[in-house]
Amino acid sequence: MPTSPTTGEIAYRIDAALYLNLTNACTLHCRFCPKHNGDWEVKGHGLELDRGPTFEQVVAAISDLTPFREVVFCGLGEPTLRLGLMLRVARWLKEHEVTRVRLNTDGLANLIHHRDTTEEMAGLIDAVSVSLNAQDEATYIRHCAPSRPGAYAACKGFIRAATAHIPEVVATALDGLDGVDVEACRRIAETDLGARFRRRVYGKVG
Ligand code: SF4
Repeated sequence: MPTSPTTGEIAYRIDAALYLNLTNACTLHCRFCPKHNGDWEVKGHGLELDRGPTFEQVVAAISDLTPFREVVFCGLGEPTLRLGLMLRVARWLKEHEVTRVRLNTDGLANLIHHRDTTEEMAGLIDAVSVSLNAQDEATYIRHCAPSRPGAYAACKGFIRAATAHIPEVVATALDGLDGVDVEACRRIAETDLGARFRRRVYGKVG
């Protein structure tokens, strides 16, 4: 798939899904993130970008949508830091009859953009996977090192807000991280926030 003028892949395939890599920027500085150890590869795809792509570059990188059962906004960066681009691409995907558009996110978009961004995702994003990551703020801060205060509460607020506008909302946490109680995360997601929960395994991508 075309990569120019950035060096990393803007669009990359994993199994039957097409992933879109919009940025390398993050609000978090997760201790477990491979990019902080200089590893920018995910399943053989180099994701380090010289700069974030334009709408035209994203569309050019997609080339053919027919083999894919879903399109996912996900790279080694936070897609909602490029919210305008992400929503424009999502609208374009819907115009091209993509039935399932998923967002993998840190859940901090409402904190960063100072509004309920999940309303704007309605009808464009079909599923969202949110990295809850921890059962309490102290553990979250220890592993994710957010650059903004209030990030953990904001992440939970995003998950709750998303359930009103996005059909499938799944909170995730990594099993195997020191001090992370995955079952407590599940209870928060399912009982407090009205979302689904998925346990991920530390060291395993996807
Ligand atoms: S939010 Fe994702 S890409 Fe960003 S530092 Fe954390 S694990 Fe890495």
